[in-house]
Amino acid sequence: MDCDVVVVGAGLTGSSAAWQLAVRGLSVTLLEARTIGHTDGSSHGTSRIYRRAYADPHYIQLTGQAQELWDELEDRSGTRLRTRTGGLDHGTERRPEALLTLMKEHGVPAELLTPGAASERFAGMEFAGPVLFHPDAGHLDADRTVRAGVDIAAASGARVVEQSPVTGIEQPADGVLVHTGDRTIRAGHVVVAAGPWLPELLPSIGVLPRLPRTWVTQQQVFHFRHRDPRAAWPTMVYKEGIQLFGLPSGADGGSTPAMKVAQHDGGTATTASGRDRVIDPASRETVTSWVRRWLPGLDPEPVAEASCLYTMTADEDFVIDRIGSVVIASPCSGHGAKFAPLVGSLVADLVEGGRADPRFAFRA
Ligand SMILES: Cc1cc2nc3c(=O)[nH]c(=O)nc-3n(C[C@H](O)[C@H](O)[C@H](O)COP(=O)(O)OP(=O)(O)OC[C@H]3O[C@@H](n4cnc5c(N)ncnc54)[C@H](O)[C@@H]3O)c2cc1C
Repeated sequence: MDCDVVVVGAGLTGSSAAWQLAVRGLSVTLLEARTIGHTDGSSHGTSRIYRRAYADPHYIQLTGQAQELWDELEDRSGTRLRTRTGGLDHGTERRPEALLTLMKEHGVPAELLTPGAASERFAGMEFAGPVLFHPDAGHLDADRTVRAGVDIAAASGARVVEQSPVTGIEQPADGVLVHTGDRTIRAGHVVVAAGPWLPELLPSIGVLPRLPRTWVTQQQVFHFRHRDPRAAWPTMVYKEGIQLFGLPSGADGGSTPAMKVAQHDGGTATTASGRDRVIDPASRETVTSWVRRWLPGLDPEPVAEASCLYTMTADEDFVIDRIGSVVIASPCSGHGAKFAPLVGSLVADLVEGGRADPRFAFRA
């Protein structure tokens, strides 16, 4: 064997899997088709929401488990990756009252605010109905998180190879053969963490697991400057007719404080290698109109915009399971970043013979 595990892809998933595997003492080769930190996939940029408010108890529990591993990642890397701001949930379809009940049942601090009280607390934001606030939410820096995972993996002995696209995977009787353009690596296991490239890579994997239907959408995000640069806003999730989210932009929004606001729904169907990066004007208009109506504290003219790829499943659950010596990890549907270190740990458990979380197991 050349190594115990080959990890394919160094986004949030592959980098987290690599550090978890390497610190458990396994020899790891991390193969990235492009360069670490590139902007063609799902993990680039400074801003992703982490939050504990989910309408699904399973994910509330997982956000709790993820927190401990975020602490570990920050400690090991000596880098602050998360910024705690608190988080808001509002809009009739977000059902803030029902969320409050669930949060209380799971011991997660949260409170319900009237629209007036919420506007008073967060000047420049307006609301039409009840608003859930929970303090244990904030935003994380995706670029730094990827870097931290790769660096810890490398410091623990992992070989990190950039510009090395995997072209095929075979499963002989024992272990796997992972082919790139210029070499074949024999390993005990392979972890496929190829994000939106997964549907394209699947045919070259020697086994076809019962994967749920996955599809890729191009999403767009917009950054709006705060009128008051001292404003300190929480993150936000809104659902009523449309689904939007908002969070401090960090460096992605430029040099003055800004909020990133984006539509969670309404992406354009595409493929990872066929996407065009063209910002959908209809989405820009939808988001800008919404900002103008509900976030008067922002200048409604975007100061920056970018596109990014979601890998979707119909139930919006992740896929993290193993078939033979092949682990497939796709924490997708636009909400996987907040779980990155936990996903790395679940992947490492599978490599070491553990069973899949039933919610993330292969399914038709
Ligand atoms: C606009 C946007 C906003 C989001 N906001 C949030 C949020 O607020 N909160 C949240 O929790 N989540 C959020 N997410 C989701 C989160 O960012 C993703 O779940 C996460 O980034 C997925 O990471 P990944 O590593 O699986 O995929 P990717 O980051 O795409 O990484 C896959 C990697 O595999 C590499 N690769 C592909 N094929 C090969 C090959 N053949 N050989 C070698 N390498 C290969 C690619 O180059 C790439 O680097 C958001 C996603 C987007 C797009």
